[in-house]
Amino acid sequence: MNGRLQRLAERLEEPLLVTAPANVRYLVGFDSSNAALLVDRERVRLYTDFRYAEAARAVQGVEVVQTRRDVYGALGESLEGRVGFEATHVTYARWETLGRSGSELVPRTGIVESLRAVKDADELEKLRRASAVATRALERLVEQQPWSGRTERELARELERLMREEGADDIAFASIVAAGPNGALPHAHPGDTKLESGMLVTIDWGARVDDYCSDCTRTFAIGEIDAKLREIYDVCLRTQVESLSAVQAGMPGRDVDLVAREHIDAAGYGEAFGHGLGHGVGIEVHEGPVMRPESEDTLEPGNVVSVEPGIYLPGIGGVRIEDLVVVTEGEPEVLTHFPKELRVLE
Ligand code: ZN
Ligand code: ZN
Repeated sequence: MNGRLQRLAERLEEPLLVTAPANVRYLVGFDSSNAALLVDRERVRLYTDFRYAEAARAVQGVEVVQTRRDVYGALGESLEGRVGFEATHVTYARWETLGRSGSELVPRTGIVESLRAVKDADELEKLRRASAVATRALERLVEQQPWSGRTERELARELERLMREEGADDIAFASIVAAGPNGALPHAHPGDTKLESGMLVTIDWGARVDDYCSDCTRTFAIGEIDAKLREIYDVCLRTQVESLSAVQAGMPGRDVDLVAREHIDAAGYGEAFGHGLGHGVGIEVHEGPVMRPESEDTLEPGNVVSVEPGIYLPGIGGVRIEDLVVVTEGEPEVLTHFPKELRVLE
């Protein structure tokens, strides 16, 4: 059993059936769309079908059980006694299938996810590399002036191409390039809007390197922008810097969120900040811990979280500034090094 499996086994009250692909990948490094791990204190069984069985046999410390294509059906015939299952991943139909042999299924949530939230040295190294790749790609895109006259979609595609050229295995998520009023939609899809002078443009992008994601956002000005846009940029930047410095082990996620929320509120834009301050990033681009008003998470050393306040004014435009940081006992380590002062491009 590797260290991750051992830490998991120590937390279990009954054997746990792990079926979320990201959790299987985290625990044993096995990448398959059709696999399940049954973990108990003494042994780990890896269930998968013929297509993945050969690769599964290379996984250290697990017993491979080759099943027919329907892994859940096969498990439903063989599970015995009390077995935990990942309640946020198993669908109702699969739950019915798993219970066929009469085993007692116990819903469990967040067990593997809570392990994943604390990164080890190897994971931190991968996150640093993913962030560096993404930063270099944006630097190269900024060198390609002017941006005016190009569409959001063209810039997004070019940024994704540059990330791959800089060493990304893939993009971490569909890039956001949101110009002018589109910037007021936090998750805008890049479209045919052309960049032009007077607009803010928000770019939220990430690279995937060795299975780990980066996540960063910067907002730029194209030519002269009016005083209102300048003001929301300045408020957002001050908020981001202040809330980032509140990120520290022992801080409740909701308290860090509150630092940002009070700052934006005081500037009169409370209504315009409608999402949480940040989220964990790792194998998945959204994982634990979270920093938002209803968060119950407390930051721990080794968490990797985004800090991303935003101000969105419908019909006018928006600003978001996001860094990815490692939580420590002191100052957080920032992974995303692209400058944050407002850059005025052509
Ligand atoms: Zn982002
Ligand atoms: Zn994010």
